[in-house]
Amino acid sequence: MTKEYKLFIEGKWTDAVSGKTFETYNPGTGEVNAVVAEAGKEDVDRAVQAARNAFESNEWKNMPPGERGRLLFMAALKMREKIEHLAEVESRECGLTIKETQFIALPATIDVLEFYAGLANKVQGETLASPPDRLNYTIREPLGIIGAVVPWNFPLMLAMWKIAPALAAGNTIVLKPAEQTPSSLLELMEIFQEAGIPDGVINVVPGFGKEAGSALVSHPGIDKIAFTGSTATGRFIMRAASQHLKPLSLELGGKSPNIIFEDANLANAVRMAAFGIYFAQGQVCAAGSRIFVQDSIYDDFMDAFVKQAKSIKVGNQLDMATQMGPQISQAQLERIEDYVAAGLDEGANLLTGGERLASRDGFFYTPTILENVSNEMRIAQEEIFGPVASVIRFKDEEDALRKANDTIYGLAAGVWTNDIKRGHRMARGLKSGTVWLNTYSLLDSAAPFGGTKQSGFGRELGIQAMDMYTETKHVWVDL
Ligand code: NAD
Repeated sequence: MTKEYKLFIEGKWTDAVSGKTFETYNPGTGEVNAVVAEAGKEDVDRAVQAARNAFESNEWKNMPPGERGRLLFMAALKMREKIEHLAEVESRECGLTIKETQFIALPATIDVLEFYAGLANKVQGETLASPPDRLNYTIREPLGIIGAVVPWNFPLMLAMWKIAPALAAGNTIVLKPAEQTPSSLLELMEIFQEAGIPDGVINVVPGFGKEAGSALVSHPGIDKIAFTGSTATGRFIMRAASQHLKPLSLELGGKSPNIIFEDANLANAVRMAAFGIYFAQGQVCAAGSRIFVQDSIYDDFMDAFVKQAKSIKVGNQLDMATQMGPQISQAQLERIEDYVAAGLDEGANLLTGGERLASRDGFFYTPTILENVSNEMRIAQEEIFGPVASVIRFKDEEDALRKANDTIYGLAAGVWTNDIKRGHRMARGLKSGTVWLNTYSLLDSAAPFGGTKQSGFGRELGIQAMDMYTETKHVWVDL
């Protein structure tokens, strides 16, 4: 049944001023999933004003921080009660398997909310060393109105990475979900309301990037922009931020290396290399999409890796037995096909996959492995954002490091070795925000996540994220 959603502004469900709506799809069937009110510039104005009113009213900002934290804990509790429902809504629209949403993405999202709920009353300033006739101290204050824009691959989780620290610190927020996946975030608003989060503290304006997204990031009334999405859009947003000199955090794309040394535990490396690239259909910013394999173990690794890829059950994302769901859209499917064709043109070999799933409607692509890849090829340099592993051989540590760092991106990297010294040397040498040693794709609410180079800047998660949602004020007292 097609669901209908409206905009969520100042605690009320409202139509767009233009009266326009847009449709979202179930990528597993291609059928319409929901009809959603489409925010335009006037709606973004209304939402920013609502967030401003809520901030200036002081109710949220000046609420005792422990009380703010308790309300966020209440929201987390209510999310837990509705986890199966939220997982279903999310899987139906974004194509993550129900196993991925119910047992990985949703629990991780709630964990993030609980982490920052607990931090709400632990934001601290400092007393500085001062002469006897003076007292100098700092206080950390909320920034004000956060304008957040998020993508479609983990709709709730990536929104929560912004909502939770922003609200815990006393800010108010306006979010623009991706046009493909607004439903779960809109459902979350009911939960936040039931939990007692005051009206206007959180507002959601579903719509398209070029209209609602652009209006939000260019809005003079916001105090910070928090963006997750592609590097191309990140460049646009940075230009928009410069107009009113807004602080900005950018979580952008990646082309992360996963490096397998000859002394690695091969079975674990194969299993997690497959997880690293095929989890969430390869639509993960930190996907281990470049797999570097040492010459001496190349054949053994590849035999096992191809078997593992072939064993993945692709199909209906709402079926608990499915291991990989559909890509988000027809456009994404075609983009993946173009990349695979470009790889083959440039001399790569296709070992498995490389085709749509013929047996189903919807946007399914099979787990794909391309070998004989060199660093100059587009499939080694550009983010495909699909289940396509580009495998590159290397000789030794120096060769691996040089090739792995030869990219405009720097989001994450994996290293597989049983040599503890080499593991740490590689961790230092890799230019990326996260390095996984003998594992891949794991996240922890307490551990900062973010990129270097053109993967963006700023750190989400961890105590560090609170720095992005507060401002330091220095107070000088003459005694
Ligand atoms: P995208 O950049 O096309 O869209 C992301 C969001 O930006 C959407 O909400 C979209 O509507 C909005 N948008 C588009 N144009 C805009 C504009 N001109 N002004 C304001 N907003 C605009 O990215 P996508 O295809 O939805 O998501 C995939 C990308 O996100 C990949 O590159 C992936 O690596 C990246 N990503 C990064 C992280 C991270 O933490 N680094 C996490 C997930 C995804």
